[in-house]
Amino acid sequence: MDFDAFFEQELERLRNDGNYRIFADLERHAGAFPRATRYDGENTQHVTVWCSNDYLGMGQNETVRAAMHEAIEKCGTGAGGTRNISGTNHYHILLERELADLHNKEAALIFTSGYVSNWATLGTLGARLPNCVILSDSLNHASMIEGIRHSRADKVIWNHNDVQDLDRKLSLIDPSRPKLIAFESVYSMDGDIAPIKEICDVADKHGAMTYLDEVHAVGLYGPRGGGVAEREGLMDRLTIIEGTLGKAFGVMGGYIAASAALCDYVRSFSSGFIFTTALPPAIAAGATASIRHLKDSNEERMAQRDRVATVRARFDALGIPHMPNPSHIIPVMVGDPTKCRWISDVLLDTYGIYIQPINYPTVPKGTERLRITPSPLHSDDDVDHLVRAINDLWSQCALARQVA
Ligand SMILES: *Cc1c(COP(=O)(O)O)cnc(C)c1O
Repeated sequence: MDFDAFFEQELERLRNDGNYRIFADLERHAGAFPRATRYDGENTQHVTVWCSNDYLGMGQNETVRAAMHEAIEKCGTGAGGTRNISGTNHYHILLERELADLHNKEAALIFTSGYVSNWATLGTLGARLPNCVILSDSLNHASMIEGIRHSRADKVIWNHNDVQDLDRKLSLIDPSRPKLIAFESVYSMDGDIAPIKEICDVADKHGAMTYLDEVHAVGLYGPRGGGVAEREGLMDRLTIIEGTLGKAFGVMGGYIAASAALCDYVRSFSSGFIFTTALPPAIAAGATASIRHLKDSNEERMAQRDRVATVRARFDALGIPHMPNPSHIIPVMVGDPTKCRWISDVLLDTYGIYIQPINYPTVPKGTERLRITPSPLHSDDDVDHLVRAINDLWSQCALARQVA
């Protein structure tokens, strides 16, 4: 078999479907977020990033950078091993304590990414809890879906954020079987928020465990950045809270926070936790500094909220349709894959505005969008430039406007 010919042919199919991914080659500027240099062949270009998940610009925060520098000088670069074989650094322990405290849980366990934390935890619990059934929200992230698949546990998909459907589906399961409900707080693409309390009520009624992915909420919601469950006073009702250190916290890594027994269990049985090199100490130090900063400081969260409200109001005044949701994610609805890609290309090439187009299969066909994430560091001029550019391109594409 001509292997490369096979790969090329499959890639060609992806290109023809318009699903081939092209990465923007960026160099982010510390101290000047959201600016970056974009590399394009021989050329470079100054751009403003409007689609980063470094939601609060913590990736360039002075305290976080200083903590990382200090840890490198103290401990060197890598961890030097798996957690079990020489790789546990004191910075990992401090980070896990910080996370347990953030979510008011007995313990926390860190992983190399949020993806791995979902995959490994759901994979381990689903495989090892005898006869377990996992109830998964229909819009759950790929990392949860893959973890559940890997566990080979029975899976029941319930309609997105539909508590009645969840209740009905739980009622059909043998009450003696262990059950785990897996869902997210803020959903990445639509920016909607789960009815956490109602889901916990249904879980209690059926004796099910709850697993909440707060990846798009930690650092951003709640008085200490503990997520939507913290804001709503519900953290103690969740069996497991999962989060990332790579989005609002601006570094990298993932974690779960739960009871000491559960964390110890996953630590002891999960392949995805055990057989991989621990995070570099500097990453753990940076994440700890970031979490501590956002526990005490509301400034970034308030400024972000202000920016989000401003961008939404400006779009409303021009009739640019964006999905109404109660979060910081602004999905501007284009509804056509070619136009969505074209607008994104022109924004980048002509206006120096970088917003990755979101097309099928990430979102359903007909709901192609620009997913905009305003940060506390986007200036009034940045907002002005963005809104004018999208307004121009909206007219050029003859896209419909929404009358207020
Ligand atoms: C990004 C994301 C993850 C994965 O987190 P990483 O730290 O980026 O690996 C998990 N869940 C959801 C909902 C996400 O959007």
